[in-house]
Amino acid sequence: MRRLFGVLACLLALAGGAYLAEREAYLPDGVSVEPVEVPESAATHVAVRSHDETPTRGLARREDARETRSSRERPLTSDEARARHGLGEAFADGLVLTGATPHRLILFTFDDGPDRRTTPRLLHHLDELGVRAVFFVTSQRLHEPGARAVAERAILRDVVRRGHVVGNHTRNHRQLPLLDTPEVLAELGDTERIFEDELGGRAWLMRPPGGSRSPRVDRVIADERYTQVLWNLGTGDFQVRDSDSVVETFIRVLSRRELENGERGGIVLMHDTHDWSVEAFPRIVGWLRDRNCQLIEAGEELYDIVDDPTLFFAPRGDAEPGTVAPMARPDPAVIARRQAALREATAQRCGRLATR
Ligand SMILES: [Zn+2]
Repeated sequence: MRRLFGVLACLLALAGGAYLAEREAYLPDGVSVEPVEVPESAATHVAVRSHDETPTRGLARREDARETRSSRERPLTSDEARARHGLGEAFADGLVLTGATPHRLILFTFDDGPDRRTTPRLLHHLDELGVRAVFFVTSQRLHEPGARAVAERAILRDVVRRGHVVGNHTRNHRQLPLLDTPEVLAELGDTERIFEDELGGRAWLMRPPGGSRSPRVDRVIADERYTQVLWNLGTGDFQVRDSDSVVETFIRVLSRRELENGERGGIVLMHDTHDWSVEAFPRIVGWLRDRNCQLIEAGEELYDIVDDPTLFFAPRGDAEPGTVAPMARPDPAVIARRQAALREATAQRCGRLATR
Protein backbone atom coordinates (compact mmCIF):
# COMPACT_ATOMS: atom_id res chain seq x y z
CA MET A 1 0.00 0.00 0.00
CA ARG A 2 2.78 2.39 0.96
CA ARG A 3 4.51 1.74 -2.33
CA LEU A 4 1.30 2.49 -4.19
CA PHE A 5 1.09 5.83 -2.40
CA GLY A 6 4.72 6.51 -3.27
CA VAL A 7 4.07 5.86 -6.94
CA LEU A 8 0.94 8.00 -6.80
CA ALA A 9 2.83 10.85 -5.18
CA CYS A 10 5.53 10.56 -7.84
CA LEU A 11 3.02 10.62 -10.67
CA LEU A 12 1.28 13.59 -9.17
CA ALA A 13 4.55 15.41 -8.69
CA LEU A 14 5.35 14.72 -12.35
CA ALA A 15 1.92 15.94 -13.35
CA GLY A 16 2.52 19.10 -11.34
CA GLY A 17 5.88 19.54 -13.04
CA ALA A 18 4.32 19.03 -16.44
CA TYR A 19 1.68 21.59 -15.62
CA LEU A 20 4.41 24.05 -14.79
CA ALA A 21 6.36 23.24 -17.92
CA GLU A 22 3.25 23.86 -19.95
CA ARG A 23 2.67 27.20 -18.27
CA GLU A 24 6.31 28.18 -18.66
CA ALA A 25 5.75 28.10 -22.40
CA TYR A 26 2.93 30.59 -21.94
CA LEU A 27 4.66 33.30 -23.90
CA PRO A 28 5.04 32.40 -27.57
CA ASP A 29 8.81 32.79 -27.55
CA GLY A 30 9.04 30.26 -24.74
CA VAL A 31 11.77 32.11 -22.92
CA SER A 32 9.86 33.79 -20.19
CA VAL A 33 8.06 32.42 -17.23
CA GLU A 34 4.97 33.45 -15.40
CA PRO A 35 4.19 32.76 -11.79
CA VAL A 36 1.57 30.00 -11.83
CA GLU A 37 -1.18 28.85 -9.61
CA VAL A 38 -1.10 25.09 -9.06
CA PRO A 39 -4.52 23.63 -8.37
CA GLU A 40 -4.69 21.70 -5.12
CA SER A 41 -5.87 18.72 -7.15
CA ALA A 42 -2.33 18.49 -8.53
CA ALA A 43 -1.14 17.98 -4.99
CA THR A 44 -3.57 15.41 -3.68
CA HIS A 45 -0.77 13.25 -2.34
CA VAL A 46 -0.97 15.56 0.61
CA ALA A 47 -4.24 13.94 1.54
CA VAL A 48 -3.13 10.45 0.52
CA ARG A 49 -0.22 10.64 2.88
CA SER A 50 -2.59 11.39 5.75
CA HIS A 51 -0.33 13.90 7.41
CA ASP A 52 -1.83 15.86 10.20
CA GLU A 53 -3.13 18.92 8.36
CA THR A 54 -3.23 21.04 11.50
CA PRO A 55 -1.01 23.96 10.61
CA THR A 56 2.02 23.56 12.81
CA ARG A 57 4.23 26.53 13.34
CA GLY A 58 7.33 25.62 11.41
CA LEU A 59 8.77 28.99 12.16
CA ALA A 60 9.50 29.50 15.77
CA ARG A 61 7.35 32.29 17.12
CA ARG A 62 10.02 34.86 16.75
CA GLU A 63 7.91 36.71 14.25
CA ASP A 64 7.91 40.06 15.92
CA ALA A 65 10.89 41.76 14.34
CA ARG A 66 10.77 44.47 16.96
CA GLU A 67 11.84 41.84 19.43
CA THR A 68 14.88 40.31 17.80
CA ARG A 69 17.61 39.16 20.07
CA SER A 70 19.84 42.17 19.50
CA SER A 71 17.19 44.85 19.98
CA ARG A 72 16.08 43.51 23.33
CA GLU A 73 19.54 43.73 24.76
CA ARG A 74 20.84 47.11 23.58
CA PRO A 75 20.33 49.80 20.94
CA LEU A 76 21.03 48.68 17.38
CA THR A 77 24.39 49.40 15.83
CA SER A 78 24.21 50.92 12.34
CA ASP A 79 25.15 47.52 10.87
CA GLU A 80 22.26 45.91 12.68
CA ALA A 81 19.88 48.63 11.63
CA ARG A 82 20.89 48.05 8.03
CA ALA A 83 20.41 44.32 8.47
CA ARG A 84 16.93 44.91 9.82
CA HIS A 85 16.07 46.95 6.75
CA GLY A 86 17.69 44.18 4.71
CA LEU A 87 15.23 41.72 6.14
CA GLY A 88 12.34 43.75 4.78
CA GLU A 89 10.77 44.54 8.12
CA ALA A 90 8.30 46.92 6.47
CA PHE A 91 6.67 44.05 4.62
CA ALA A 92 5.19 42.01 7.45
CA ASP A 93 1.56 41.22 6.90
CA GLY A 94 1.48 41.97 3.19
CA LEU A 95 -0.42 40.78 0.18
CA VAL A 96 0.86 38.97 -2.87
CA LEU A 97 2.77 41.39 -5.10
CA THR A 98 2.71 40.78 -8.85
CA GLY A 99 4.96 43.70 -9.76
CA ALA A 100 2.29 45.24 -11.97
CA THR A 101 2.55 49.04 -12.00
CA PRO A 102 1.36 51.78 -14.36
CA HIS A 103 4.68 53.59 -13.78
CA ARG A 104 8.11 53.03 -15.26
CA LEU A 105 9.40 51.68 -11.94
CA ILE A 106 11.87 48.82 -12.17
CA LEU A 107 12.84 46.59 -9.26
CA PHE A 108 15.49 43.90 -9.82
CA THR A 109 15.24 40.62 -7.94
CA PHE A 110 17.79 37.80 -7.94
CA ASP A 111 16.87 34.27 -6.92
CA ASP A 112 18.46 31.00 -5.85
CA GLY A 113 21.78 32.35 -4.51
CA PRO A 114 24.03 33.24 -2.92
CA ASP A 115 26.51 31.46 -5.12
CA ARG A 116 30.20 32.08 -4.51
CA ARG A 117 31.01 31.74 -8.23
CA THR A 118 28.65 34.47 -9.41
CA THR A 119 27.05 36.54 -6.62
CA PRO A 120 30.18 38.54 -5.67
CA ARG A 121 30.51 39.76 -9.27
CA LEU A 122 26.87 40.77 -9.33
CA LEU A 123 27.30 42.67 -6.05
CA HIS A 124 30.17 44.53 -7.65
CA HIS A 125 28.02 45.52 -10.67
CA LEU A 126 25.21 46.64 -8.38
CA ASP A 127 27.58 48.86 -6.41
CA GLU A 128 29.13 50.31 -9.55
CA LEU A 129 25.72 51.15 -11.00
CA GLY A 130 24.28 52.37 -7.71
CA VAL A 131 21.40 49.89 -7.87
CA ARG A 132 19.91 48.02 -4.94
CA ALA A 133 18.00 44.82 -5.39
CA VAL A 134 16.14 42.07 -3.58
CA PHE A 135 17.78 38.65 -3.22
CA PHE A 136 15.57 35.62 -2.69
CA VAL A 137 17.77 33.10 -0.93
CA THR A 138 17.59 29.33 -1.32
CA SER A 139 19.39 27.97 1.72
CA GLN A 140 20.05 24.33 0.81
CA ARG A 141 23.79 24.82 0.25
CA LEU A 142 24.16 27.04 3.30
CA HIS A 143 23.18 24.18 5.61
CA GLU A 144 25.93 21.89 4.38
CA PRO A 145 29.25 21.59 6.19
CA GLY A 146 32.36 22.82 4.42
CA ALA A 147 34.12 25.80 2.90
CA ARG A 148 31.44 26.54 0.32
CA ALA A 149 28.74 27.13 2.92
CA VAL A 150 31.08 29.30 5.00
CA ALA A 151 31.87 31.42 1.94
CA GLU A 152 28.24 31.71 0.89
CA ARG A 153 27.05 32.62 4.38
CA ALA A 154 29.62 35.42 4.31
CA ILE A 155 28.23 36.55 0.93
CA LEU A 156 24.74 36.58 2.42
CA ARG A 157 25.91 38.96 5.14
CA ASP A 158 27.62 41.04 2.47
CA VAL A 159 24.40 41.29 0.43
CA VAL A 160 22.68 42.98 3.38
CA ARG A 161 25.71 45.07 4.33
CA ARG A 162 25.65 46.57 0.84
CA GLY A 163 22.07 47.70 1.31
CA HIS A 164 20.11 45.03 -0.52
CA VAL A 165 17.02 43.31 0.84
CA VAL A 166 16.81 39.55 1.32
CA GLY A 167 13.78 37.32 1.16
CA ASN A 168 13.01 33.66 1.75
CA HIS A 169 13.06 31.37 -1.30
CA THR A 170 12.81 28.17 0.79
CA ARG A 171 15.47 25.60 1.59
CA ASN A 172 15.18 23.09 -1.25
CA HIS A 173 13.34 25.01 -3.98
CA ARG A 174 10.46 22.57 -4.16
CA GLN A 175 7.05 23.48 -5.55
CA LEU A 176 5.20 24.31 -2.36
CA PRO A 177 1.71 23.21 -3.49
CA LEU A 178 3.07 19.67 -3.79
CA LEU A 179 4.13 19.64 -0.12
CA ASP A 180 1.95 19.26 2.93
CA THR A 181 1.66 22.14 5.35
CA PRO A 182 4.33 21.01 7.88
CA GLU A 183 6.72 20.51 4.97
CA VAL A 184 5.99 24.01 3.62
CA LEU A 185 6.68 25.47 7.07
CA ALA A 186 9.92 23.49 7.34
CA GLU A 187 11.04 24.75 3.91
CA LEU A 188 10.54 28.33 5.11
CA GLY A 189 11.74 27.78 8.66
CA ASP A 190 15.05 26.21 7.63
CA THR A 191 15.95 29.30 5.60
CA GLU A 192 14.87 31.52 8.48
CA ARG A 193 17.32 29.70 10.75
CA ILE A 194 20.13 30.80 8.42
CA PHE A 195 18.84 34.39 8.43
CA GLU A 196 18.58 34.31 12.21
CA ASP A 197 22.17 33.01 12.52
CA GLU A 198 23.74 35.31 9.96
CA LEU A 199 21.56 38.43 10.04
CA GLY A 200 19.94 38.35 13.46
CA GLY A 201 16.30 38.22 12.39
CA ARG A 202 13.73 36.79 10.04
CA ALA A 203 12.79 37.86 6.50
CA TRP A 204 9.38 39.31 5.66
CA LEU A 205 9.48 38.90 1.91
CA MET A 206 9.27 35.51 0.27
CA ARG A 207 9.08 34.19 -3.25
CA PRO A 208 7.55 30.79 -3.97
CA PRO A 209 9.89 28.57 -6.04
CA GLY A 210 8.81 28.59 -9.69
CA GLY A 211 6.13 31.11 -8.71
CA SER A 212 3.88 28.12 -8.02
CA ARG A 213 1.11 28.82 -5.58
CA SER A 214 -2.15 27.38 -4.34
CA PRO A 215 -4.85 28.83 -2.11
CA ARG A 216 -3.79 26.58 0.78
CA VAL A 217 -0.11 27.52 0.52
CA ASP A 218 -1.03 31.20 0.13
CA ARG A 219 -2.87 30.98 3.44
CA VAL A 220 0.04 29.25 5.18
CA ILE A 221 2.42 31.94 3.93
CA ALA A 222 0.05 34.75 4.91
CA ASP A 223 -0.31 33.23 8.40
CA GLU A 224 3.46 33.52 8.69
CA ARG A 225 3.00 37.20 7.74
CA TYR A 226 5.17 37.10 4.65
CA THR A 227 4.58 39.28 1.63
CA GLN A 228 4.90 37.09 -1.44
CA VAL A 229 6.76 38.75 -4.26
CA LEU A 230 6.01 37.45 -7.74
CA TRP A 231 7.24 39.14 -10.92
CA ASN A 232 5.85 40.49 -14.17
CA LEU A 233 9.15 40.94 -16.01
CA GLY A 234 10.71 37.52 -16.57
CA THR A 235 14.06 37.39 -18.34
CA GLY A 236 14.01 33.65 -19.08
CA ASP A 237 17.60 33.52 -17.78
CA PHE A 238 17.16 30.00 -16.42
CA GLN A 239 16.36 28.70 -19.89
CA VAL A 240 19.24 30.15 -21.90
CA ARG A 241 23.00 30.25 -21.64
CA ASP A 242 24.02 33.64 -23.00
CA SER A 243 23.55 37.23 -21.89
CA ASP A 244 22.30 38.40 -25.31
CA SER A 245 19.17 36.28 -24.91
CA VAL A 246 18.57 37.57 -21.40
CA VAL A 247 18.82 41.22 -22.47
CA GLU A 248 16.61 40.64 -25.54
CA THR A 249 13.96 38.81 -23.53
CA PHE A 250 13.90 41.56 -20.91
CA ILE A 251 13.36 44.25 -23.56
CA ARG A 252 10.70 42.21 -25.35
CA VAL A 253 8.76 41.36 -22.19
CA LEU A 254 8.96 44.97 -20.97
CA SER A 255 7.46 46.35 -24.17
CA ARG A 256 4.86 43.60 -24.34
CA ARG A 257 3.67 44.31 -20.79
CA GLU A 258 3.25 47.97 -21.66
CA LEU A 259 1.40 47.24 -24.89
CA GLU A 260 -0.84 44.49 -23.57
CA ASN A 261 -1.52 45.43 -19.96
CA GLY A 262 -0.50 49.04 -19.56
CA GLU A 263 2.19 47.90 -17.12
CA ARG A 264 5.09 50.19 -17.86
CA GLY A 265 7.45 48.75 -15.28
CA GLY A 266 7.57 46.08 -12.67
CA ILE A 267 9.52 43.46 -10.81
CA VAL A 268 12.29 41.76 -12.80
CA LEU A 269 13.13 38.12 -12.17
CA MET A 270 16.77 37.09 -12.62
CA HIS A 271 19.06 34.51 -11.00
CA ASP A 272 22.39 35.39 -9.43
CA THR A 273 23.52 31.81 -9.98
CA HIS A 274 24.21 32.13 -13.73
CA ASP A 275 27.20 33.80 -15.41
CA TRP A 276 25.01 35.05 -18.25
CA SER A 277 22.59 36.72 -15.84
CA VAL A 278 25.41 38.53 -14.08
CA GLU A 279 26.71 39.66 -17.49
CA ALA A 280 23.25 40.70 -18.65
CA PHE A 281 22.46 42.82 -15.59
CA PRO A 282 24.72 45.85 -16.35
CA ARG A 283 23.66 45.67 -19.99
CA ILE A 284 19.98 45.88 -19.02
CA VAL A 285 20.66 48.86 -16.75
CA GLY A 286 22.64 50.46 -19.60
CA TRP A 287 19.74 49.87 -21.98
CA LEU A 288 17.25 51.46 -19.57
CA ARG A 289 19.48 54.48 -19.10
CA ASP A 290 19.97 54.86 -22.87
CA ARG A 291 16.25 54.55 -23.33
CA ASN A 292 15.81 57.38 -20.80
CA CYS A 293 17.84 59.64 -23.09
CA GLN A 294 15.15 59.08 -25.76
CA LEU A 295 12.25 59.31 -23.32
CA ILE A 296 13.43 62.61 -21.90
CA GLU A 297 13.54 64.03 -25.44
CA ALA A 298 9.96 62.85 -25.94
CA GLY A 299 8.88 64.32 -22.59
CA GLU A 300 7.81 60.89 -21.32
CA GLU A 301 8.08 59.25 -17.93
CA LEU A 302 11.60 57.88 -17.37
CA TYR A 303 12.60 54.43 -16.17
CA ASP A 304 13.26 54.63 -12.46
CA ILE A 305 15.29 51.77 -10.99
CA VAL A 306 13.99 51.65 -7.44
CA ASP A 307 15.85 50.61 -4.34
CA ASP A 308 13.20 48.68 -2.52
CA PRO A 309 9.76 47.17 -3.01
CA THR A 310 7.73 49.74 -1.06
CA LEU A 311 6.54 51.34 -4.30
CA PHE A 312 4.85 48.05 -5.20
CA PHE A 313 3.57 47.33 -1.75
CA ALA A 314 0.11 47.83 -0.29
CA PRO A 315 -0.53 46.67 3.28
CA ARG A 316 -3.16 43.98 3.57
CA GLY A 317 -5.61 45.99 5.68
CA ASP A 318 -8.95 44.22 5.78
CA ALA A 319 -8.35 42.18 2.64
CA GLU A 320 -8.39 38.41 2.77
CA PRO A 321 -4.95 37.05 3.76
CA GLY A 322 -2.91 35.65 0.91
CA THR A 323 -4.80 37.47 -1.82
CA VAL A 324 -3.19 39.20 -4.76
CA ALA A 325 -2.75 42.94 -4.37
CA PRO A 326 -4.25 45.20 -7.02
CA MET A 327 -1.84 46.98 -9.33
CA ALA A 328 0.31 49.25 -7.17
CA ARG A 329 -0.55 52.92 -7.48
CA PRO A 330 2.08 54.81 -5.56
CA ASP A 331 1.54 58.34 -4.29
CA PRO A 332 1.71 60.66 -7.35
CA ALA A 333 3.68 63.22 -5.32
CA VAL A 334 6.37 60.60 -4.60
CA ILE A 335 6.54 59.63 -8.27
CA ALA A 336 6.73 63.28 -9.34
CA ARG A 337 9.57 63.94 -6.92
CA ARG A 338 11.51 60.90 -8.09
CA GLN A 339 10.96 61.76 -11.75
CA ALA A 340 12.15 65.34 -11.23
CA ALA A 341 15.42 64.14 -9.71
CA LEU A 342 15.81 61.54 -12.41
CA ARG A 343 15.19 64.06 -15.19
CA GLU A 344 17.91 66.27 -13.85
CA ALA A 345 20.45 63.44 -13.66
CA THR A 346 19.35 62.05 -17.03
CA ALA A 347 19.55 65.42 -18.78
CA GLN A 348 23.10 65.87 -17.53
CA ARG A 349 24.16 62.36 -18.45
CA CYS A 350 22.50 62.32 -21.87
CA GLY A 351 23.75 65.84 -22.62
CA ARG A 352 27.25 64.61 -21.89
CA LEU A 353 26.70 61.66 -24.21
CA ALA A 354 25.42 63.91 -26.98
CA THR A 355 28.41 66.26 -26.84
CA ARG A 356 30.98 63.48 -26.64
ZN1 LIG B 1 14.10 30.00 -7.73
